[in-house]
Amino acid sequence: MFDLEEIKKYSPFCLSCLGRSVGLVGFGLDNRERGIEMINIIELSENMNIVEEIICSPEDCKICDGLIGEIDNFIDLACESISDYSLETFKIGTIVDKDILNLESEFANTFGVNLSESIKSQLNREIGIGVFQKNNILARLDNPDSTVIIDTRYDTINLEIKSIFVEGKYNKYDRTIPQTYWPCRNCKGKGCKSCNHTGQLYPDSVQSLVAEPFMKVTKATENLFHGMGREDIDAAMLGLGRPFVLELRMPRNRDINLDEMADEINKSNVDRIQVNSLQFVPRKRVAELKNTVCDKSYRVDVSIPEDLTIESLKNGAQRLKEKLVKQRTPTRVAHRRADLIRPRLVESVNVLSFEQGMVELEIRAQHGTYIRELVSGDMGRTVPSFSSLVDGACKVEVLDVLNLHLEFEEEKK
Ligand SMILES: [Zn+2]
Ligand SMILES: [Zn+2]
Repeated sequence: MFDLEEIKKYSPFCLSCLGRSVGLVGFGLDNRERGIEMINIIELSENMNIVEEIICSPEDCKICDGLIGEIDNFIDLACESISDYSLETFKIGTIVDKDILNLESEFANTFGVNLSESIKSQLNREIGIGVFQKNNILARLDNPDSTVIIDTRYDTINLEIKSIFVEGKYNKYDRTIPQTYWPCRNCKGKGCKSCNHTGQLYPDSVQSLVAEPFMKVTKATENLFHGMGREDIDAAMLGLGRPFVLELRMPRNRDINLDEMADEINKSNVDRIQVNSLQFVPRKRVAELKNTVCDKSYRVDVSIPEDLTIESLKNGAQRLKEKLVKQRTPTRVAHRRADLIRPRLVESVNVLSFEQGMVELEIRAQHGTYIRELVSGDMGRTVPSFSSLVDGACKVEVLDVLNLHLEFEEEKK
């Protein structure tokens, strides 16, 4: 069952390291208690007193190199690392020197194969219990608020704090702000004279207006704004709003009242942006949002030749109904998008109002339709276009997104 001479080669070792070598045998004992049982068994079968010879305190253990004796220290390190965060759940991970892992598995094999527990699992468990007892937060293996990785080689901690994800929808009424932060081209966000040391090309964005109160409450280190697509800076976002997920990284406080946050954002940005339907969501919503496409409706003010009549405009609009148009990549985005011809379905075009030289249209089209080019024709790159059908040069002056036609919202109607 065991070879005492073999075992002695590894001595002296601590009770935990002895007990852990058969750690998967029996229940209800910790490794120290198992170690004591092992000593009893060895002494009985060899009929000699061996404990003094092979067992030492954890500090002098040749197998764990003193790590087991450091557990209280690791508990303190872990507690300190999370002390600034309000958390409900945590998980401990450890990095242990390879030599120690090799030695302990070699030693464990002298008692038989596959009976041992690894030192990492003992450390994780016992440090976890210690942190729970000190901070009263729960250990959770699956998706904890925080993961504390202790590198036992250097006594350093790598702390991972789960981001907070808040989904909602925004409306944008201010036609001067971009959707997300837009770093200054000059200094790339560092701050310089030309950006007034803000690091931003535009002082405000939908992102900054939404995120600011969240950053204050959560004390997060940074935030990311994941929109379901985006509108141009000079376009408003109307209707039910555009879905987004705000990601808050390394938040110190996770206790947020979303109704209060929405109130605060909406009250301080009445004519600029509004948010609605805020809720906490899992990380996977970001990818889901990014992969969702849908029809969109737009309201556009279009300048038209003075001599165009309402009849010809209505006729042109009618001829675009349920029409498949071919759009070659517009020149204005050609520098960042492949030069392709994309077929896009125009659902409907309606004339909302008309005065000489100006028409207001509502256009509903498949996702990815270039609306400005659908109207202008983009020098023949979009075929057919509103311009070609009314036989006159038309140009979008103001463009607003009226709605995103998400399936689940269509069903509610
Ligand atoms: Zn040991
Ligand atoms: Zn700058």
